[in-house]
Amino acid sequence: MQRKTLGCALVALSLAVAGLHEARAQDKGTVNPKPLPPLANPNDPKLAAKELFGRKPEPAPLEARSIGFYAKGCLAGATALPINGKTWQVMRLSRNRNWGHPHLIKLLEQLAGKGVKVGWPGLLVGDISQARGGPMLTGHASHQVGLDADIWLTPMPDRELSREEREEMSATMVVAASRKDVDPKIWTPAHFSIIKTAAMEPEVERIFVNAAIKKAMCRQAGSDRSWLYKVRPMWGHDYHFHIRLRCPSDSPGCKPQEPPQHSDGCGHELDWWFTDAVLHPKPSPTPKRDHIKLADLPPACRQVLVAP
Ligand SMILES: [Zn+2]
Repeated sequence: MQRKTLGCALVALSLAVAGLHEARAQDKGTVNPKPLPPLANPNDPKLAAKELFGRKPEPAPLEARSIGFYAKGCLAGATALPINGKTWQVMRLSRNRNWGHPHLIKLLEQLAGKGVKVGWPGLLVGDISQARGGPMLTGHASHQVGLDADIWLTPMPDRELSREEREEMSATMVVAASRKDVDPKIWTPAHFSIIKTAAMEPEVERIFVNAAIKKAMCRQAGSDRSWLYKVRPMWGHDYHFHIRLRCPSDSPGCKPQEPPQHSDGCGHELDWWFTDAVLHPKPSPTPKRDHIKLADLPPACRQVLVAP
């Protein structure tokens, strides 16, 4: 298949699954992203908000704040994670999703440094948020308020990745083919350590991982299990893990999520995830999801959108 054709097929595929699954780390990007065509009627109240937020490549020059809920909100005054740090590199640059609340950007930079001390050589950072947050044209229900970040389960190589590699490279599947545990040939103590290090950050409220990864974390945690409740089983999340910060104090319009229960979430609590019905679900017709419209978002998101 010609490369161009493949690219189109991938775009079509990612649009088909948009909103239903997390953007998977193995979804490829392109070094020559085409600008989106202008909207015929940007003021149409029926227009999906993702069409508007997806066309804002620059942050709103306002004071930094997260507005609304993780899956229904936006972001003012975003800062970008630089695409290269000593201990991190940003992947899929064509998506322009390396924007976040300044607290999250700072946390990622610090986590990248702490990771080195526990054996994880550096972070490959996937999607954070769009420049003004909001719903996205592909992937992710959440990641809208600049407090969510996907980290690849691939350790950073000891060199600067090329533009092509950042678009084309695949993240590492760490779950075994049985889906019941991690793959012992892939999973390392450093995988455990980077997830634990992230979970121990006070600002981190949740970390989403595949249930097989949660099972491994439970097994390896030892006696200090105080942080384990933050690591939550979730669909997918077998190529990357997902860091979610609590609402920052500077963002009164940020709608908090109920804090996770303080049980470590191990043992029988995981059984359901490994039942046959969950591991091998019967194919069902793809549910059509309602698109979030601008009027569905907090009113402040309109200001974020129209800011120069
Ligand atoms: Zn995510």
